Amino acid sequence: MRDWMGRDIHYLRISLTERCNLKCIYCREETEYCQAKQELSLMELTRLMRVFVELGITKVRLTGGEPLVRKDLEQIVRMVASFPEIRDLSITTNAQGLAERLPALRRAGLQRVNISLDSLDAARYRCMTRGGDLNKVINSIQAAVREKMMVKINVVLVRGENDTEIGDFIALARDYPIDVRFIELMPFSTLGTADERRVPGEEILAQYPFLHPAAARDPSQPAQDYSGNGFAGHVGLINPISHKFCSKCSRARLTSDGKLRMCLGQDEETDLRPWLYGSEEHLIQVIRDAIYHKPQAHGFCSTYHAARAMNQIGG
Ligand code: SAM
Repeated sequence: MRDWMGRDIHYLRISLTERCNLKCIYCREETEYCQAKQELSLMELTRLMRVFVELGITKVRLTGGEPLVRKDLEQIVRMVASFPEIRDLSITTNAQGLAERLPALRRAGLQRVNISLDSLDAARYRCMTRGGDLNKVINSIQAAVREKMMVKINVVLVRGENDTEIGDFIALARDYPIDVRFIELMPFSTLGTADERRVPGEEILAQYPFLHPAAARDPSQPAQDYSGNGFAGHVGLINPISHKFCSKCSRARLTSDGKLRMCLGQDEETDLRPWLYGSEEHLIQVIRDAIYHKPQAHGFCSTYHAARAMNQIGG
């Protein structure tokens, strides 16, 4: 459906949990503790999916927290994939333990995977994720390529941490049929509020002038695609801070505790739980209203501090 600005809202990001097996330095605080008790159940998610599909959602990404910590992830994927209206179904994951579950997820109807990978150096990766195992990510990427699934790698650049590895990541897109996307640091954790740690997309283009713009494959995609001569994959720049893309945003977000959040960088949320067990008509009306009133633009700036951490909203 269209919001008050005429934007076509057809993309729903569903956060399945706030829980995560990692604590990336830019996402959440080291001492934060998450519980499962508020999470929407498979049955509740099914009810909500029916309504979202009726309102025009055709694209779904499952995220978190870490979606793989949900033991019923395969069932959730099967449920979402059972709606013929959903033409694009993907997950965003840190890929710790993805390789083993990929064949079942594929059979359940998963089409694409976005894998977060911030360093190709095992020690730095462990440090940035506070405990992650790089080998597990590499095995998962190989498994996804074997399964012929489209793979995108998300790299959040943090100056002083992984900005020396930009060239190595670009080489991955040169050599393999995968997309590597550099994401500008957004103000979520205390680290994310520091402007000086953000690496703007323009800096990458200045450093690697052989990258040339490639045609966007999806007009509402946040990434600006680039390529180089002989590249097997693409390099994407996601610049929410230096180049806002709010005017073409097509997204709605459902948090794992049942809040509909229409903008990552605005704290307004609509609690859907009170409406979940009432009439379908009311539920549709509440969701329709929230979508219609989607904020014009995010409020990220140097003084903004989100009320919830990224893992609590769903990245
Ligand atoms: N656990 C999964 C993962 O690691 O991909 C999914 C959830 S994670 C919150 C989703 C995405 O948000 C990841 O690609 C992550 O790198 C990104 N992210 C988290 N905090 C961020 C921040 N402060 N700025 C930019 N991207 C961030």
